[in-house]
Amino acid sequence: MIIDFHTHIYPEWVAAKILPAAKRKLKVAVPGTGAPGDLRRMMQAAGVAQSVLLPLAKGREDVSSLNDWVMSVSGGKELTAFGAVHPFMLNLEAELDRLAARGVKGVKMMPLLQEVYPDDPCCGKLYEALIERKMILVAHAGRDPLDRQEVFGTPKRFARTVECYPDLRLLLAHLGGLRMWDEVRRHLLPAGGNVYFDTAYVSFFMGPEDMLELIRDIGPKRVLFGSDYPWEEPGRAAEIIASLGLCEAEAQAVLYNNAATLLDVGLELTTTLTTKAQRHKDDLDSEIGPKVYTSLE
Ligand SMILES: [Zn+2]
Repeated sequence: MIIDFHTHIYPEWVAAKILPAAKRKLKVAVPGTGAPGDLRRMMQAAGVAQSVLLPLAKGREDVSSLNDWVMSVSGGKELTAFGAVHPFMLNLEAELDRLAARGVKGVKMMPLLQEVYPDDPCCGKLYEALIERKMILVAHAGRDPLDRQEVFGTPKRFARTVECYPDLRLLLAHLGGLRMWDEVRRHLLPAGGNVYFDTAYVSFFMGPEDMLELIRDIGPKRVLFGSDYPWEEPGRAAEIIASLGLCEAEAQAVLYNNAATLLDVGLELTTTLTTKAQRHKDDLDSEIGPKVYTSLE
């Protein structure tokens, strides 16, 4: 079973604008349409049980309406909405309360798009509000496929954030810093506390051997599978993780268990494990202990 912790869907008019423009500018194939139905189809083909939707708001004013939309198209166990957030938005706490009341477990911030430094003291209000509500923060980390001068969310700045807010459950996308993995090693490892890393879009810039090494150095209990749909096909992305050479228990942790624990769905879904999956679970229990199902230290 697979949980994809990093996907994006867009309202139709937004997808029509940004996907062709990105294809042109980045000269990359975009396998998905960004529509919820298309994501569901690709999930089914890839055996993905659940996808976390990460909406991206550029401006402070865009947040609430985008969150309304993503919550309206999510639902069930399959599509789990996270909220968009802007660290400097005016009604920050009210928006987080609104999301939490609807069962939303986390939010995404996008330093590069929002032009915010994650270690800016003004972000403290967001981090404290999230800790108080036990919500997860997912953050784009590192560069994007464009060569922009200013990165904003660098591994070094996130390391400062982690130091100041050790209780913040922080998931750094793209293995801690897209195209900045030397700095990830320098500043974010050994990863401890409440920091996690996802694998979204990494395979376009890093070979399987380096990816395996970095995942092992971070620790497979802290790494979550993400595809970055529609920019990548979930099936292809999951296949890459499955064939890296991780042992079965490690792969199971990355592809499912770590995400299930973070989303607190582990117990509910593990009761429906098939016999084959149950065997994986038993292997995992014997190799890294049953603790992974209930908590990640
Ligand atoms: Zn993404």
